[in-house]
Amino acid sequence: MKKQKVVVVGAGPVGALAALYAAGRGDDVEVYELRGDLRDPSTVPLNFTKSINLALSERGINSMKNANCPGLVEAVLEETIPMYGRMIHGAKQGKLFEESQSYDVHGRYIRAVDRAGLNKRLLDELEKMPNVKFFFDHKLVGADFRKNRAWFERRSKTLDDHAQNPTKSDPVEAKASKGSSEVEVAFDFMIGADGAHSAVRYHLMKFARLNYQQEYIDTLWCEFHISPSPTNDFKLSPNHLHIWPGGEFMFIAIPSLDKSFTSTLFLPASRFAEIDAQPEKLVNFFNENFPGVAGDLISESDLRKQYDENPHLPLISIKCSPYHYKSSVVILGDAAHAMVPFYGQGMNAGLEDVRTLFEFLDRHRPNILQADPDALAVEIDAHTEGRMMALEEYTKQRTPDAAAINDLALRNYQEMRSDVTSPIYRLRKWVEEA
Ligand code: FAD
Repeated sequence: MKKQKVVVVGAGPVGALAALYAAGRGDDVEVYELRGDLRDPSTVPLNFTKSINLALSERGINSMKNANCPGLVEAVLEETIPMYGRMIHGAKQGKLFEESQSYDVHGRYIRAVDRAGLNKRLLDELEKMPNVKFFFDHKLVGADFRKNRAWFERRSKTLDDHAQNPTKSDPVEAKASKGSSEVEVAFDFMIGADGAHSAVRYHLMKFARLNYQQEYIDTLWCEFHISPSPTNDFKLSPNHLHIWPGGEFMFIAIPSLDKSFTSTLFLPASRFAEIDAQPEKLVNFFNENFPGVAGDLISESDLRKQYDENPHLPLISIKCSPYHYKSSVVILGDAAHAMVPFYGQGMNAGLEDVRTLFEFLDRHRPNILQADPDALAVEIDAHTEGRMMALEEYTKQRTPDAAAINDLALRNYQEMRSDVTSPIYRLRKWVEEA
C-alpha cells in the first residue's frame, strides 16, 4: 500500500503523540517544530521559565497506552507523583491550618508530571522510529490545503546546521530558493498541533468555513518555585495538589520528583498591576491571602525575585469548528480547543484527541493489499475518501466534547479559588461520601 506522508506541525505533547500514532501505522512522518529540540538543554520551553508540572489523568494515560509503544506508559508513570486529593491551606485566628479533600472515595488519583519530561519521553520514542524525521527550528508560515503544500521558515540555528550538513534534515520534497530560509513541503495529510496561537488553524480558516471564538479571562498567571527543605525533603505533603484559595484569586503548588513544588499564582490583571505599582506590598499580600507561603515555603527575597523575573502570562479559552478541511488537515490539542488550566485537562484532552482521531482514521483506512501501478490512482482516491470521512466524523464527535471540557475548566476556577472553602462544599462532599 502506498505510504502516506504525514506532516505534524508542533512537537509539544500532542504533536509528539500524534506523530507516534501515525508512525506506528507505517506512514512517513515529518515533525516540524518552531523551537529547538526540547532535549537540548539550551531550549527554553515556550511560555515557561523552565517547565511546569501538570496533572496527568486517565484521559492522557489511556491515549499513551493506545500508542502501542512498549514501555512508554510505564516509563512516563514512573516519573509521576500520585495526588490523592487537594490540600486546602488557610489561617484561623492567626494559626495555620490545612484540610485534605480526597478526589475520590475509592482512592483513585491524578498524577503530577513534569510537562517537559513527558514531552521528551515522547520525542525519545519517536526518535526510535525509522519512518520519522524531525525538523526543529522550523516555523509554519503558509499552507495551501487544496494543493497540499506548506511553507516553513527555517530559523538561523538550523540554517547553520544545514550549511554544515546539508542533507541531514532536508525534507525530501523541500525546495529552498537561493538566499531564502523558506522551504516548501508537500504532504498527504497535515496534523496541526501547534498550540493555542496555531498557524495551522490560521491557514485552515482560509479554506474551511471555520467558526472561531476566543476569550481571555481576566486572570494572569505567574510561576513560582518552592525548593526542597534543608534536609532535602518535601516542604508540604507530596501527595496533594495544594491550594491557597483567595476568593477572587489563588495560589497552588504541585509536587516534583526532586522534592520541590512548581507553584502558580493566579490573579486578576488589575491586582498584578497594583502590586507592580507598589512592589513592597507583595509579601504582605501573600501573608494576608496565602498564609504560610512567604518566609516558610519561599523566602521573602526569593518571592520578590521570582515575581519580578517570571512572566505574568494570560489565559485563553478557544473554541472552533470544524477541526478539519477535506482530507488534507486536522487540528488537535490547544490548536483546536485551548482551555484555562483549572480543570487540569488541557493536555489530557489533547492527548485524547489523538486517540479519538486515529480510531476514526483506522475505521476508514482503505483495505488495499498490493496495488499494481495502474491501481495507484484508485488507491490514492481510497486514502483520500477514507480520511475525509474519518475527519468529518472526528469533528462531529469531538467538537461538543471539547467545548464541554472548556466550559468545565472555566467553571472549576470558581471551585478552586473559592468554593473549596464553603460549608456547602463540605456538606455536598459529606453526602457523596456517606
Ligand atoms: P503546546 O504544548 O502549546 O505545543 C505546541 C507546539 O507547537 C510548541 O512546541 C510550539 O513551539 C509549536 N509551534 C507553535 N507554533 C508553531 C509554528 N508556527 N510552526 C511550528 N511549530 C509551532 N493541562 C493538563 O492536562 N493538566 C494540567 O494540570 C495543566 N496545567 C496547566 C497549567 C498552566 C499554568 C497552563 C498554562 C497550562 C496547563 N495545562 C494543563 C494545559 C497544557 O499545558 C496544554 O493543554 C498542552 O501543553 C497543550 O499541548 P499541545 O501539544 O496541544 O500544545
